[in-house]
Amino acid sequence: MSQEKDLLDRLERKGLSRRDFMKYCGALTATMGLSSAYVPKVAAALKNAPRTPVVWLAMAECTGCAEATLRTTYPWIDTLLLDVISLDYNDTIMAPSGEAAEKSLHDSVTKNTGKFLLVVDGSIPTGADGNFGVVGGKKMIDVIKEIAPKALAVICIGTCSSYGGLPAASPNPTQAKSISEVTGLKTVNIPGCPPNPINFVGTVVNYLLFGKLPALDDKGRPLFAFGQLIHDQCPRRSHFDAGEFVTSFNSEEARKGFCLYQMGCKGPNTYNNCPAVKYNEGTSWPVQAGHPCIGCSEPNFWDKSAPFFKSIS
Ligand code: SF4
Repeated sequence: MSQEKDLLDRLERKGLSRRDFMKYCGALTATMGLSSAYVPKVAAALKNAPRTPVVWLAMAECTGCAEATLRTTYPWIDTLLLDVISLDYNDTIMAPSGEAAEKSLHDSVTKNTGKFLLVVDGSIPTGADGNFGVVGGKKMIDVIKEIAPKALAVICIGTCSSYGGLPAASPNPTQAKSISEVTGLKTVNIPGCPPNPINFVGTVVNYLLFGKLPALDDKGRPLFAFGQLIHDQCPRRSHFDAGEFVTSFNSEEARKGFCLYQMGCKGPNTYNNCPAVKYNEGTSWPVQAGHPCIGCSEPNFWDKSAPFFKSIS
């Protein structure tokens, strides 16, 4: 059975029709900022590309990023992802444990040095000589320093690995730091708390299609996803321009969908594509649901965003 048929058959068993698959490819292509002419190429990349070896390390994190990526409302996203990449090691979902898990990490890194993508969620505790973060007797700081330089590229999923995130919030008792701060490497950052899974898939598919990682902004974020302010894409923007603001959640203005700026919305300072791609199969996103943006994809989240309900002016 060909790889293409194999993938589509397995997606079909998970309830995804060919039509659904092409619809997803269309949404992914648009998210990547490519014209619709690329839809068949994106579909072909997903179906036929050689599987890129991936090592996924979970550091100081809450597992929300892995949950968001692998257990979305799309019941088939894990099948799709695991076909597109060869997930050789993942702390969170792998079956082996103990010495067998350590061996699979060692074997994958040794066999694929310079060829594997390293995906990391979670920041690195550096306080107490790294002893706040120890897995299997090894300090996270030592693991990341050993493995990251051997990767083809490092993709940070979520704000914690990208910029320190919640573990690094003041007073940061574990002295948590981002992957780039600890390793000195330039990382591809897909921040968010949690990040949108389609931005991760788009980053990987960009590599499969063009043989390189996507263009990044000065904070290491793919421009296709983080090139615009939320404020400039927001469906409530006309209310902002008209000076129509919500000043209480239980109010007529809130029910009318007025702007959430005075409720603390950080959309004017936050780069992300939430208004375009939304969450939960494109169902909604915080501002659509009536909650101000908390700026979770920016460096220094959460200190910079808190208090969440205080206006940034
Ligand atoms: S709700 Fe937030 S992002 Fe939307 S227009 Fe108002 S301030 Fe900007």
